[in-house]
Amino acid sequence: MLKDLLEAKKCFKLVCGAGNEDVEEVKRLVYVYALGGCKFFDLSANEEIVSAALESLHLARVEDAYISVSVGIKGDPHSNKAVIDYTKCINCGSCEAVCQQGAIQYAKVKKNRCIGCARCWKVCPRSAISYVSEEKKLDEVLPAIIEKGVDCIEFHVDGKDENEIFSKWHYINDNYNGLLSICISRGKMGDEELVNRIQKMINGKDDYSVIIQADGFPMSGGDDTYKSTLQAVATAEIVQNAKLPVYLMLSGGTNSKTCELAKMCGIDYHAVAVGSYARKIVKKYIDRDDFWTNHLELEDAVNAAKSLVATIG
Ligand code: SF4
Ligand code: SF4
Repeated sequence: MLKDLLEAKKCFKLVCGAGNEDVEEVKRLVYVYALGGCKFFDLSANEEIVSAALESLHLARVEDAYISVSVGIKGDPHSNKAVIDYTKCINCGSCEAVCQQGAIQYAKVKKNRCIGCARCWKVCPRSAISYVSEEKKLDEVLPAIIEKGVDCIEFHVDGKDENEIFSKWHYINDNYNGLLSICISRGKMGDEELVNRIQKMINGKDDYSVIIQADGFPMSGGDDTYKSTLQAVATAEIVQNAKLPVYLMLSGGTNSKTCELAKMCGIDYHAVAVGSYARKIVKKYIDRDDFWTNHLELEDAVNAAKSLVATIG
């Protein structure tokens, strides 16, 4: 049971990317991290992606693993896709150079790989990059995914539109009775507002039927420093101090130093979710044409994953 994994406080979640709909990449990531000891995988709410992940778990012969899918509200950065205005673009290549997803080639965006991280937007000298929100309609994507038997639905709730947040939250609660996760950061709200929103969302729900994913700096690029992970620890502390009957997960800027820093700061977490950094350390293996046949390289990839997963222990 996923709850047992959370209660053991050794739950490492690989975040493949809420906007990552590159089937082959997700398949490879799940395979490597499953062999590396990860038991919990966070995916885009896309039936094909869920099928790819399940296939990899089967290939890796890992049976006791769990799957979560992520959905959000309009404007949630995880649902954003980069768009280039070619009347401004000078084809300088800066965006391609910083994109860790390999989502830009020759100034063209591959939408299925773009996770909306905004790294390209920050470096563009001509302000040629903007974003379109491609948030999913819950009634279009969730029924088929729920049918497949996912173990958790994660809802990203950064934003001010409480009407949208609560109407989607009610839809999720009315149609799914498994574990839910609320992904929330301090980005657009104060500490008190953050706790109030969580309290309002869990009101009436069973104790420990919700994970609070305390998001530091979402999709912040995967640096392996204390500084990158500090905000996730700070957000987790606010949730912990509120003494709510929820599971606590750190995310957003997380890396190999997160657990160490969280322990130093007295955070009694149940889980850690790692995205950008986890993908970055295996990228050179994942991108290989001979990924499925080069067993030596695959072993190196699994060892890299294993060493990161082990930091939760
Ligand atoms: S840098 Fe981020 S936002 Fe830009 S294309 Fe790559 S993944 Fe998308
Ligand atoms: S960084 Fe901006 S100007 Fe340069 S290639 Fe990308 S979109 Fe074009």
